[in-house]
Amino acid sequence: MKRLIITIDGPSGAGKTTVSKILAGRLEYRYIDTGALYRGVALEAISADINPDDDAGLENICSSLKMKFVYGEKGLRLISNDSNITDKIRTPEISMFASAASARPVVRNFLLELQRELGREKGVVFEGRDMGTVVFPDADVKFYLDASHKTRSLRRYQELESETSQTLKSVEKDIKRRDKNDSARDIAPLKAAEDAVIIDSTHLSVHDVVDRMMSVIGNMRYIK
Ligand code: C5P
Repeated sequence: MKRLIITIDGPSGAGKTTVSKILAGRLEYRYIDTGALYRGVALEAISADINPDDDAGLENICSSLKMKFVYGEKGLRLISNDSNITDKIRTPEISMFASAASARPVVRNFLLELQRELGREKGVVFEGRDMGTVVFPDADVKFYLDASHKTRSLRRYQELESETSQTLKSVEKDIKRRDKNDSARDIAPLKAAEDAVIIDSTHLSVHDVVDRMMSVIGNMRYIK
């Protein structure tokens, strides 16, 4: 059967990561979290004391950055210049830096090639903001996963609770700022592709969302 490229775009906290992992597991596909790549660039840039609007500095970082994903017992790991940075990229500081730097063409162009390369063999669920609109405009199945701002903030807060001193209020504020950055930028803004299936997960369980996706994919797999 044809191996597909499946894209899942949407704002922070919509449930993309959880859903993508389960969906990829059901299909026996690989799962790729493209936000982690933006976070990897952010980690390097912060370590080198570069600002998110310093294009020359960011270009310099990107030109020497070798990132790859490794699938291990603990799930997806991101390796950056031979170091495992998976557990270092989830801080609020990195979230905000990644959101700002992701508006810079130099960063997007660098990651565009890398992401397309990762999809070359197909059989992948890609999660991000512009997967269906820019990176894989010809993807076989596109989803746009959304939820209310309140629900997304609460989910993100519960996810971070044990690792951060952030309050629900500050998570809400961060998410609002990132939503604004991601949707308002000139290059590859966050939006649903015209041919995306839109799912609002505000009142749906993870398994309801995955079941809906599977029914769309099931039809596609047999048609092709
Ligand atoms: O998905 P995650 O929250 O880890 O992504 C971090 C940031 O990376 C997002 O706020 C967004 O600015 C950026 N991003 C992007 N395009 C993608 C994936 C992530 O601009 N495909």
